Amino acid sequence: MSCVFCQIVKKEIDAAVVYTDEWVVAFKDIHPQASTHVLIVPKKHISTLNQLQDADAEIVGRMVLAAQKLAGEFGIAQDGYRLVMNCNSDGGQTVFHLHLHLLGGRRFHWPPG
Ligand code: AMP
Ligand code: ZN
Repeated sequence: MSCVFCQIVKKEIDAAVVYTDEWVVAFKDIHPQASTHVLIVPKKHISTLNQLQDADAEIVGRMVLAAQKLAGEFGIAQDGYRLVMNCNSDGGQTVFHLHLHLLGGRRFHWPPG
């Protein structure tokens, strides 16, 4: 199985890693959509939100807490930021290893297009 985010977690391919802990790895998105665009991924391979189980609750919580910490470190906490998880085709998911986008440094619109 070749999952690009598993390969980053295992350090088999390079990424601009900005944070790691027992549960998650965070790295800069290769095609940033904002001046801060970081992906927070679980070390465990979970392909989409649809595969999440009760036992994964701590992982999801740790993903969000890592994003909160990184927002502080990147200096976007006060102005604000957006967290996004895309699921499957209508959600715009292109990499099938769960990930949380941390986006900041510009104003985002709501509702999204
Ligand atoms: P999504 O559309 O939610 O599945 O987002 C996948 C994201 O992963 C996109 O924003 C890509 O730019 C990003 N991406 C894909 N491959 C890599 C990589 N090797 N390193 C960093 N970001 C990546
Ligand atoms: Zn994976």
